[in-house]
Amino acid sequence: MTAATRLAVVGAAGRMGRAVIAAALDDARFEIVAAHSREGAGQDVATLVGRPPIGVVTRDALAPVVQAADAVIEFTRPAFSVELARLCAEHGCALVSGTTGFDSAQHAALQSAAGQVPLFWAPNMSVGVNLLLAALRQVASRLGDDYDAEIIESHHRHKVDAPSGTAIALGEVLAETRGQPLDALADHGRAGRTGERAPGRIGIHSVRGGEIVGEHDVRLIGADEELRLGHTAFRRGAFATGALRAAAWLVRQEPGLYGMHELLALDGGSHMDTRRAPQ
Ligand code: NAD
Repeated sequence: MTAATRLAVVGAAGRMGRAVIAAALDDARFEIVAAHSREGAGQDVATLVGRPPIGVVTRDALAPVVQAADAVIEFTRPAFSVELARLCAEHGCALVSGTTGFDSAQHAALQSAAGQVPLFWAPNMSVGVNLLLAALRQVASRLGDDYDAEIIESHHRHKVDAPSGTAIALGEVLAETRGQPLDALADHGRAGRTGERAPGRIGIHSVRGGEIVGEHDVRLIGADEELRLGHTAFRRGAFATGALRAAAWLVRQEPGLYGMHELLALDGGSHMDTRRAPQ
């Protein structure tokens, strides 16, 4: 049996940081050896998620955390991710980043770190969402545009943007198969005297309420039949387990920038736009 991958969690006290810790504690492929949290040093990582202590405490210095690990998983903020990527490159540590909102300079900095170490980045770490995108690509390219496409996404009441990045990614897949940019085809919600539905349009609708983690439904409605594809995330563990799957794969790769496209060996088209927020 191969030794467990030594894992460091950065942004450990954040919503996703805690989801990663909880998932990693139950995953024999990993041993959590270090964690970084700016919320305060000295707290046992397992107690952060309500488990018995494992003797690994959070630190507020980044370099020792990186030095201790084979792989780092981080969900933080772009400027900090870039600093972390540089450190990983310096210390030969693989990095899985799920942070979103990188600008092009920050994206270039990640790319440059990936010249020295394997780096994995995905704006949506859910394996299910990425397979939904791939499935939609397959379906849409064969259906043709006789089918009216409507995307409906639902999220918790705290979400501050609409539509979700994933809904836009789904729309982009549909628009691509129609040979036009999504902006030229999207109808965001409908109200008033809209007139008849024009062919080829892509309806996008956002539902907000309660604590829904994330639902995406694509309805492809023809004259005589309807095809539906969808995905529901029940909890943040959907993203955390995807990040762990990426880390287990990444530590065996050569330096380079990888995403879900490579991890899942998806054919055709690009994976999700790498600068967009998830959900
Ligand atoms: P959060 O606010 O709950 O946690 C962020 C953590 O990062 C906090 O612990 C915070 O202290 C830490 N952090 C932020 N800036 C820092 C800095 N300068 N130095 C040190 N620590 C810093 O947020 P979250 O919901 O966990 O999301 C974090 C990121 O992950 C966001 O960009 C979000 O969009 C993204 N996200 C991605 C996916 C995905 O599947 N790729 C899923 C969920 C969230």
